[in-house]
Parts: sequence; C-alpha cells; structure tokens
Amino acid sequence: MKITRIRIFKMDIPRKDVFTIATMTLEKAENVLIGVETDEGLTGWGEASPFHALVGETQRIDLAAAQELRELLLGKNPLEISRRVQEMEAFLPHNPTIKSAFDMALYDIAAQAAGMPLYQFLGGSHRPLETDFTISIGGVEEAAEKAQKVMEQGFGAIKIKVGISDEADYRRVEAIRTAVGDALRIRIDANQGWDRMQAVANLNRLAPFHIEFCEQPCSAHDLPGMTFVSRRSPIPIMADESVFSPMDALQLIWEDAVPYFNIKLSKSGGIYRALQIAHIAWAGSRKCMIGCMSESRLGLTAHAHVGAASPAFQFFDLDSFFEHAEDPIIGGVQVEKGHILLPQTPGLGARPDEAFLNKWEEV
Ligand code: MG
Repeated sequence: MKITRIRIFKMDIPRKDVFTIATMTLEKAENVLIGVETDEGLTGWGEASPFHALVGETQRIDLAAAQELRELLLGKNPLEISRRVQEMEAFLPHNPTIKSAFDMALYDIAAQAAGMPLYQFLGGSHRPLETDFTISIGGVEEAAEKAQKVMEQGFGAIKIKVGISDEADYRRVEAIRTAVGDALRIRIDANQGWDRMQAVANLNRLAPFHIEFCEQPCSAHDLPGMTFVSRRSPIPIMADESVFSPMDALQLIWEDAVPYFNIKLSKSGGIYRALQIAHIAWAGSRKCMIGCMSESRLGLTAHAHVGAASPAFQFFDLDSFFEHAEDPIIGGVQVEKGHILLPQTPGLGARPDEAFLNKWEEV
C-alpha cells in the first residue's frame, strides 16, 4: 500500500465559552486536520490540537510542519507504522502534536485494512470508559452552577482547573463540593501553577474536599519538586506536563516521583508512543489517565480507542468537544451520562463532514 495524497486543513472550531487554565486561555479550537489517502482507496484521518503553552506548537506552526511531513511521507507504505513514526521523529524531534495527527491517520488506515475498530486492532476490549467534565478557571458561583448541571447530566466526575489564585481556587473547589455533595469524584489540575511549598500547602488545605488526584502541581521540568510534593501531599499526584515521552515515563518511575501519569496523543506524538508509555506505566505499577486538549470528536475518538487498549488506563478525561459550538464530525464517540461509547466500524470510525471540509482552508 502507498500514500498517494495528503490533505491538510486549518480546522477552526468555535467554543461556547472561553477556557482558562493556569498557563493559557482558549477562545476557539485552532486545530489541524490531516487526511491521508492511499492507492488502495483507504483514507485515514488525524487531528492535531496544539496547546502552545504546553507543547510549544500553534496552528500556524503545525500547518507549516504538516507540509514538511507530507513531503516526507508521500509514496511510503502507511502500514509500516513504527518506521513512519521513527522517520517523523528523526525529521522533527519535537512537535509531538502535529506528528500525532499523522500517526492517528496511519492507525486509521491500518485498522480499516484489518477490518477492525481501532481499539480492537490495538488489542483492546470494549470496556466501560467514564469521562469527567472539566470546569475551567472562573467565577465561584458560575462554577458551582456548572457543577450542578454536570451532575444532573449524569457525570460521575468533575475536573477543576486551579493554579492562578490560591484563595479563589479554594473557594471554587469548596463551592463545587458543596453543590454536588458526595455524589461526584473531584479531580484538580494546577497546570504547573504552583511552586513546591505552595503546592503542599494548597493540597493539604484542599484535602478535606475529598480530591481524587491533582495533576501537575509544579513546573514540567521540576521533577524534584513533583517528587517533593508527592511525598507530602494527602492527595495523589498525577504527572501531565512532566510526561511527554516513554523516556519521561521511565525517568518518573526511576525517581519514584508520582503514582499517576496523564497520557495525551498531542504530547506523546501519537498512538505508537502513547501505548509505549502505558506499557512502561503498567510495568512500573502506575495508573494512567488518557486526557485531551481541544480536539473535535475525531481526535477524541482516537484517544478513546487508545484508552480502551490498555489496562494501564484507569482514568478518562475525554471531554474536549463538550464546549465546542460546532460538531464537524460524522461517526466517532458518543457520550451518554459520562460514559463513552466507541464506534464499532473499522478504523477510527470518525471522519469530517464534507460541508466543513469545503469551509476550512486547505493548504
Ligand atoms: Mg492536565
């Protein structure tokens, strides 16, 4: 099989609300969509959702990088995934988000060629996956109202973004716990917003609200800080910005830094490396979450297939499209009362709506 054509789209998706985390603000999803066509009539789709403050990529950077990767991959066999991944990494050692879109499209083609839904192609089973709903940094009352609505919609877990103001964070977490009672699991994510002493103080103060875990209290590169906090926190710590690659995962295990990892395709460079991280985590008795950036249901579907593929995945944060004002995807995952339903068609099982392909700029 040969790659005959690669299409690259500037995939803009408006949001219902502005999304704020400790390191950045998002007014719309500025993603990149990749369509990989083959001489055997199969087309694979992949999506990149670049979060500049986390990975150092923007839509413009990814549109430029995608054109380079297109030249690299044209004419090659899409089924030789490990070779294609290694070629992309040799050509662009960084830029994991745009590489993940190509990796996703290759896996879509391979699973279609095998006639299996992607999770099955990856050796997974259709097990229950329950996602949380993320509440961004914002007002106390609006957060409590949102939490109430999320609970009424049947979700079992809420993730609260923190890390800008200790006092406002405390009041928001308190208001959300009061609004939902003991019914929901609550996770928090500081997105590197704290130093080690501040983190230990905040986590001790927030512990009475029964927090399931806290993502990334300290700076991505402050591994000693993450370890320091993890040993003193009553709330389990999950590495997110500190774990991009399989080598990062090994380092975190060697240092005995944290019990949980958050894996995202946009950080790992795609499915191939994400599963390697999950295998390392499993070998090191660590649990993983599969998380997302601001993908449409297409990218999110790939994440859900991966989440179903390894027992290392115990937590699911696959809620990126809930706040999108448009849904440009046909097929793909559906979410009912927080439970993710995977498509059963061969491949990714998600593709863009033609009407949007005509609307988005193609490069
Ligand atoms: Mg996070």
